[in-house]
Amino acid sequence: MVLNCRHVWDYISGYLDNTLDAQTRADVEKHLEHCEICSAVLDSTRNILILTADDRVFELPVGYSERLHARLAQAMLEIPLDEPESSA
Ligand SMILES: [Zn+2]
Repeated sequence: MVLNCRHVWDYISGYLDNTLDAQTRADVEKHLEHCEICSAVLDSTRNILILTADDRVFELPVGYSERLHARLAQAMLEIPLDEPESSA
């Protein structure tokens, strides 16, 4: 099945937690190979997990999450919506 970015975002936490089945994981990896947006989302999600995996507390810059969400919202708008949904 060909995943679009929205599918990949749904799978990212499972991907990082290693809870995806092998086929889904392979599909996600295939998508990540050619998609800069999802690679960036994966990297930042992984970094956040690393930061929060130990007990240290990090102060994020003021407005960080607003900027992140604005960036993600913008990225979503740029993704064509006519890609096939999970039909295969
Ligand atoms: Zn993508």
